[in-house]
Amino acid sequence: MTDCLFCKMVAGEIQPDVVRETDEVLAFRDINPQAPTHILIIPKRHIATLNDITPEDAGLVGRLFTVARELAVSEGIAESGYRCVFNCNRDAGQEVFHLHLHLLGGRRFSWPPG
Ligand code: AMP
Ligand code: ZN
Repeated sequence: MTDCLFCKMVAGEIQPDVVRETDEVLAFRDINPQAPTHILIIPKRHIATLNDITPEDAGLVGRLFTVARELAVSEGIAESGYRCVFNCNRDAGQEVFHLHLHLLGGRRFSWPPG
């Protein structure tokens, strides 16, 4: 997707603050952090929203969470706690239409979310 911001990061056209990279996953710090730790974990392959995943993507989605768990440890928030969020479409406030898992931690979050 040539007009996708996160695909441009995967292609190296834009350089985010990368914290982890594998052959199929990229993780980088959110440019507008909502918590002391705010990392986005994306598949390198373009998938627009959570609505677009298929049963074949189950392993990939699981590996996004595995990266989140590893980063929670390295960020020092595994024990204090953290939140993992996929925003899907308008009512959830999705702004970038390339699947991304938010890893948020380092402060106390409220529930229910706003
Ligand atoms: P969402 O609202 O779930 O689509 O989240 C999109 C996220 O992407 C927001 O938290 C933005 O702050 C973040 N974002 C947008 N542009 C960039 C960028 N250039 N580098 C890092 N994060 C970005
Ligand atoms: Zn994309």
